[in-house]
Amino acid sequence: MSIVYIVSAPSGSGKSTLVNELFKMVRNLDFSISYTTRPPRGSEQNGKEYFFVSRPEFEGMIASGEFLEYAEVFGNYYGTARRFLREAENRSNDLLLDIDVQGASKIKEKIPEAVSIFILPPDREKLEWRLRTRGLDSEDVIRRRLDTARREIENYSKYDYVLVNNVLEQSADQLRDIVLAVRLQRSGAEISGDDKRRVEAAQACRLEQAREWVQPILASFNLQMVKGT
Ligand code: ADP
Ligand code: 5GP
Repeated sequence: MSIVYIVSAPSGSGKSTLVNELFKMVRNLDFSISYTTRPPRGSEQNGKEYFFVSRPEFEGMIASGEFLEYAEVFGNYYGTARRFLREAENRSNDLLLDIDVQGASKIKEKIPEAVSIFILPPDREKLEWRLRTRGLDSEDVIRRRLDTARREIENYSKYDYVLVNNVLEQSADQLRDIVLAVRLQRSGAEISGDDKRRVEAAQACRLEQAREWVQPILASFNLQMVKGT
C-alpha cells in the first residue's frame, strides 16, 4: 500500500523549492502532477509541474470522475487525477501531493491514513519578500496571495506535521526526515541508530510539538493560536 503524503503551504512559502529538494534525496516517491486551468508561469512545462488544460477539458474530466479531488484556487481549477495513485501503487512507490488546504481535507476524508504536512514561512514579512523576489506575480496578485496566506495558515492545526521553511537546507532535511520516518514506522521494522535520530527529528515537527514555535509566526499574520492545538 502506497503512503500518500500531502504537502500544503501558503503560496510563496517555498513549498515547490522544498519539494524539489526532497525529490533529490528520496527514492520510490512519485509526484502527483495536478491538472490546472491556470496558464503556465515562468519556465513551467506541460506535464512537469502541471498538466495545463482548458476549462472545458477540466470540466469534462470532473464529469467523467477522473479526479480524486479538485478545487478552485485563485480563480482557477486544480485537480489531483486518480490515475497517479493507481500508478504509484503499481510501481510500489509512495505518492506526494502538493495541494491546497481544501484539497488536503478532501484527501484526508478519502484516505485517512494519508500523512499531511503544512509548511509555514518564517513570518509575514519574509513571505511578502519571497513573493516579490520570485518576480512571477503582479502587485495585485501578490496582495491576493498574502490575504489568502492568512486564511490558509489558520488551517495549520488540521495537519499532522508542521514545518517552518527558514534555512532551506535544514527545512529540506526536516521534510526528508518526516517522509522517511513515516516509512520506517509503517514498515514495522525495528528502529535503531541513524533511523532513530530521523524518527526523533520528525517527531519534533508533529503538530503537538509545534505549539510554542508556531505562535510568533501566527502573530506576524495577526492570527492567534487555535484553541486545543
Ligand atoms: P511556493 O511553491 O511555496 O509558492 P517557491 O518555492 O516558488 O514557493 O518559493 C518562493 C520564493 O522563495 C522563490 O524565489 C524561492 O527561491 C525562495 N525561497 C524558497 N525557500 C527559501 C528559503 N528557505 N529561504 C529563502 N528563500 C527561499
Ligand atoms: P500555484 O498556482 O501557485 O502553482 O498553486 C496554487 C495553489 O494550488 C497551491 O496552494 C497548490 O498547492 C494548489 N494546488 C496545486 N495542485 C492542486 C490540486 O491538484 N488540488 C488542489 N486542491 N490544490 C492544488
